[in-house]
Amino acid sequence: MEVVLASGNQGKLRELSARLGDQFLVRPQSEWNLQQPPETGQSFLENALLKARFAAEKTGLYCVADDSGLSVDHLQGAPGIYSARYAGEQASDQDNIDLVLEKMHGVKADRRGCAFHCAMVGCSPDATLAPILIECHWRGTLREKMSGSGGFGYDPIFQPDGMQCTSAELEPEHKNLISHRGQAMSLLIGRLKELG
Ligand code: IMP
Repeated sequence: MEVVLASGNQGKLRELSARLGDQFLVRPQSEWNLQQPPETGQSFLENALLKARFAAEKTGLYCVADDSGLSVDHLQGAPGIYSARYAGEQASDQDNIDLVLEKMHGVKADRRGCAFHCAMVGCSPDATLAPILIECHWRGTLREKMSGSGGFGYDPIFQPDGMQCTSAELEPEHKNLISHRGQAMSLLIGRLKELG
C-alpha cells in the first residue's frame, strides 16, 4: 500500500519513515511540492485532519498526517498546538526551547510535569471513507537545561517518566517505539492493515 506522509518537518518525516517504511511504500508530500495548509484548527486532531485531507485531495493517494506538540502543566498546556512557532512564526527549535526554559525559570521540580501529544490521521482520497483518528501522549518532566543531540524539537529538555535521560539521549529506534508518535504509529499500522 502506498502512503503519502503529509509533513514538511524533517524530524517527523525521519520517525514516520523509519516505522511505516517497513510495511508501506511511503512517499513524502514534498514529491508533489505541496505547501502546508494553514493550521487553523483549535486542537491537535483538527490540525492533523486538515493536513491529511488537504494532501489526500492534492495527491489522490492515501495520506497520513501528524499534529503534535509539547504541553507544559505549569503553563496551562502551552505551547500546545503552537509548539512549532511558540517563539514566533520563523522560530527555530532552539528559540522555542529558550522561551519555554525562560518561562519555567525557577519553577520547582515537582511543578515541571509535561507531555508530548500526537494526533495522527489517515485519510483516503475517497471522501466517503471515514478517516482513521488516533491520539496518544507521552508524559515526562521538563529539564532545566538541554541534554542530548538526538531527535528534534523539544527532545533535549524532555525527560520521559521512568527514565533518567532526555528523549534526545534515547536511541532513535527506542524513542520511535515508546514516544507519543511511536504509540500512534503502532495503532495506525494495525488499522491500515485492516484496510488491506
Ligand atoms: P506541528 O508540525 O505543527 O505538528 O508541530 C510539531 C512541533 O511540536 C515540532 O516542531 C516540535 O517543536 C514539537 N514536537 C512534536 N513532536 C516532538 C518530538 O517527538 N520531540 C520534540 N518535539 C516535538
